[in-house]
Amino acid sequence: MDKELNQYKAKRNFEESTEPTGTKDSKQKHGKMRYVIQQHDASTMHYDFRIEVDGVLKSWAVPKGPSTDPNVKRLAIAVEDHPLDYADFEGKIPDGNYGAGPVIVWDEGEYENIRKASMTDALKEGQVEINLKGKKLQGAYALVQTKYQKENQWLLIKMKDEQADARRNPVSTQPESVKSGKKIDEI
Ligand code: MN
Repeated sequence: MDKELNQYKAKRNFEESTEPTGTKDSKQKHGKMRYVIQQHDASTMHYDFRIEVDGVLKSWAVPKGPSTDPNVKRLAIAVEDHPLDYADFEGKIPDGNYGAGPVIVWDEGEYENIRKASMTDALKEGQVEINLKGKKLQGAYALVQTKYQKENQWLLIKMKDEQADARRNPVSTQPESVKSGKKIDEI
């Protein structure tokens, strides 16, 4: 199907890993745009921030995870597009495979584009502003491509609104999966 997923498929061995194969044509229109964050304990711990755009999950790896404090900028490394059904994946990627290690669905929900530009244009411009309706994260977040470093480097920043809260720290206080209730070390 989509050439966007070629990189995703090339990196994985689906005879060993139970991750989605990316072959199902899931580009149906359903109005609601998915948002998910997966905690992933691979070679280093990180949080994979993913949003549905044009039938795939645009993805960034956020080493420290998201913050609810507008004064905190979190590095977000753009990674390969993932298939939409990856948003439901929770499990252990077996040893010896790309991304080996446990994955949990740390947060999930829907999002809205709050810029006038389309999501496709916003991604090209390196300036994404979205409203999250997750179970742990709500409100406006910006993803901003840094102009002065590597092309894959972005920053994930909570925008100032009623959901901004410098005292919350959901990465440490709400570690459990929103799907199974398990923590990453229980997978
Ligand atoms: Mn990952």
